[in-house]
Amino acid sequence: MMHREMVSVFVGLGANLGNAQGAVMQAVESIGKLPNTQLIQCSSLYRSAPVDATGPDYINAVLHIESRINAYDLLDAFQDIENLAGRARPYLNAPRTLDVDMLLFGSASIDSLRLTVPHPRMRARAFVLRPLSELAPHLVSDVDLRKLDDQLIQKI
Ligand code: ADP
Ligand code: MG
Repeated sequence: MMHREMVSVFVGLGANLGNAQGAVMQAVESIGKLPNTQLIQCSSLYRSAPVDATGPDYINAVLHIESRINAYDLLDAFQDIENLAGRARPYLNAPRTLDVDMLLFGSASIDSLRLTVPHPRMRARAFVLRPLSELAPHLVSDVDLRKLDDQLIQKI
């Protein structure tokens, strides 16, 4: 269940239905209340146009935590938080009240049915890399960021 060591984890947050900003802020609060877990830093909030989808703009942020919870239990916790926010999954990339993705779990590489880490699409998404670069500039290169210049996103 628990790791002995604290692991540095980056979490991608997004919402585009209802009170999206409220849902993202609530998620930060809920994650901060997880056992054996500390909030380190939250990025600015960003507004982004949906990628590969339609619907309202997203509110996004990236959260840095340190946790002793193992990756699978942490994913369970994130999904509980999504469900509490009223998350439904009617179809792929549907608008969502809250999406909580595990971007990085320390330096782990995980590739199982339930969990792929690093998150497979994070390098292709400005709404992940821009906030992540605020918190961990060493993890995001300028070349990576420039490739995503055409994606509409603004800091709010
Ligand atoms: P997406 O975030 O890709 O739009 P969902 O939030 O509906 O889609 O997640 C779909 C599934 O992705 C989840 O049930 C989960 O098991 C799986 N998954 C795999 N890797 C990850 C990850 N790194 N973070 C979050 N979910 C993941
Ligand atoms: Mg998700």
